[in-house]
Amino acid sequence: MAEDFYEEDYNGEEDHLLDPEQQPGEEVIEQSLRPRTFAECIGQEKIKQNLQIAVAAAKMRRESLDHVLLYGPPGLGKTMMANILGNEMNAQVRMTTGPAIERPGDLAAILTNLEPNSILFIDEIHRLNRLVEEILYPAMEDFRVDVIIGKGPSARTLPITLPPFTLVGATTRTGLLSSPLRDRFGIVQHFELYDPKDLALIVRRAADVLHVPIDEEGAGEVGGRSRGTPRIAIRLLKRIRDFAQVHGDGVINRKVARDALAMLEVDELGLEPFDRKLLTMIIEKFEGGPVGVETLSAALSEERDTLEDAFEPYLLQIGFLQRTPRGRVATRSAYEHLGFQDRRKRLARGLFDDE
Ligand code: ADP
Repeated sequence: MAEDFYEEDYNGEEDHLLDPEQQPGEEVIEQSLRPRTFAECIGQEKIKQNLQIAVAAAKMRRESLDHVLLYGPPGLGKTMMANILGNEMNAQVRMTTGPAIERPGDLAAILTNLEPNSILFIDEIHRLNRLVEEILYPAMEDFRVDVIIGKGPSARTLPITLPPFTLVGATTRTGLLSSPLRDRFGIVQHFELYDPKDLALIVRRAADVLHVPIDEEGAGEVGGRSRGTPRIAIRLLKRIRDFAQVHGDGVINRKVARDALAMLEVDELGLEPFDRKLLTMIIEKFEGGPVGVETLSAALSEERDTLEDAFEPYLLQIGFLQRTPRGRVATRSAYEHLGFQDRRKRLARGLFDDE
C-alpha cells in the first residue's frame, strides 16, 4: 500500500527541481542576476547591516576587512555576498572551493599571489583537507605562510609574508568546521531562509533583468513556493517563463504561475514529490518518528548531507518536521497537509496499522 503511494507520486528522478544546490548550466544566468551592492541585495537585513558597518570601519582605517564566515543552506546568497563585499571594498575577489584545493602547496600558491587587500572566497570551506587547513591558520592570523623546504631531519620552514587579505568562507553549517578554523573568523553571519515577500521582490527583479513580463500576483505565487530560497525562485521563474510562452501570451500572472507549478508538481507550500516521499516515509514506515537521519537516508536512497542541507531546512521552517535528539519527527501539520489525519488519530490512541 505504502509502496503504491511512493511509486505513483514520486518517479524516482534523480534531479530535484527544488534542490537548492546550483545545477549544471545555472552559473551563467545566476552571475547575470547577482546583486553587486548592498543596496541591490534584497532581504537579510541583519547581515547587511553588520557587514556594512564592518566595511565602513575597515575603509576608514584603510585596512583589509576582517575574515568573514557565511553559513546557511545553499542558494541563499553566500557567493553573492562575497562579491558584494569585494565590490563595496573595491577589492579583487578570488574564488575557489574547499575540495578544489588539494594540497597545501596549492593554497600557498593562491595566497602568495593575492593582490593586497583582496578577498579570497572559499566555498564549502568545511571540505578543506586537514593539511591545507593548517596552512590557513597563520595566513589568517599573521598574514604568513610557512613553506617547508626539504624532507626529513633536514627539512626547515621558510616563513613568507603575505599581503593583507580577507578570507570569506562559506559553509552550510558551522558545526562542520573545526573549531580552530571557526575561531579565526572575526565576523560570522548566518543566512536565514527568506520570507515570501522578499522572494517575490527577488522574482520581480530577476524578471526585469531577464525581460520576462510578470505581474505582482504572479511574482507572489512564485515567491511563496520557492522554499525561502532565491536560487529556487529564479529556477522556477525560468521554467514558468517557458510555460507562459507555450500556453499563454508570455505574461506570468497568478493563473499561469499556478498552472505551471501544478504541472511541475510543486504544491502550494513549495513541496515537491521528494518532500512528500520523505514525510510519507516517516509517517507510514516509522509511525511518524522519531527516526534517525541515517536510517532515513538509507530508506530514501539519498545522501544524508542532501537531506540535511537541501530538504530539511525548509521542512523544519514550515513546521512539518522536528529534529529531536532521537531523530526526525513528522508534525501534526505534516500529517494534515498530506491527508493522514485519521492515521494520526489512530496513532495517538496507540493503534498501529496491523492492529
Ligand atoms: P549560495 O552561495 O548561498 O549557494 P548564491 O550567492 O549563489 O547562493 O545565490 C544564488 C542565486 O540567488 C544567485 O543568482 C543570486 O543572485 C540570487 N540571490 C541570492 N540572494 C539574493 C538576494 N538577497 N537578492 C537578490 N538575489 C539573490
